[in-house]
Amino acid sequence: MPSGKKTKASKSLDSDPFRGTAFTWAVSGMMCVQMLPTLFPIYMRILQFSFLKTVAIFFPSMLLHALIWNTLHPHMHGLPDIKIFQGAPSRVLAWLRGSAFFNYLYQNHEGHHVVGGRGNYNVCCPLTDHLLGTYVPQKIWRPKVKLPGTLLAKRKADEAAAEVELENHASVIIDDVTTSLESIDQSSGAVEIKLDNAEHTVLKTVDENRVTV
Ligand SMILES: [Zn+2]
Repeated sequence: MPSGKKTKASKSLDSDPFRGTAFTWAVSGMMCVQMLPTLFPIYMRILQFSFLKTVAIFFPSMLLHALIWNTLHPHMHGLPDIKIFQGAPSRVLAWLRGSAFFNYLYQNHEGHHVVGGRGNYNVCCPLTDHLLGTYVPQKIWRPKVKLPGTLLAKRKADEAAAEVELENHASVIIDDVTTSLESIDQSSGAVEIKLDNAEHTVLKTVDENRVTV
């Protein structure tokens, strides 16, 4: 996207080292607050849990969710790991990368991006997509992948393509500048010739006048 036409959203992503892929402490906090109005009625009224039990289930679950998310999601988008001062740290569950569980979550979320974000919404709890009918199986989305390999490979290919594009732009600009310089050279050459000719004419006229006089 040309830098002059950046949307508010893309500008805010530029200022985020994780480009919106991570759960920072602020995001985790907001999520917890957002869930409180439904949490207590469901847990305490419907499920009849005590306040302590509710809190003891809710907060560790939120932390586990953030840990799984932060280990999987920024990493699969080729972005850096989250440090403890930024959010739930990625290193706690990094040993799970490459496991059957993480590979399953990884491919499920690949599908989310391949279908343009219109399915497989849940990164850490794919069961929700199965319950809500928003799950897209791999056999549907995999053939739509234009480039072979993983999302990471696709991202790298995109970056390489962007670099080639930038290089092309740069060479077009260099060509333009070279052409302009050449035309300036030619113009100044033509001006010099014209000046020379004019000088000759003036001198010739002066000479002729002198002869006439
Ligand atoms: Zn993603």
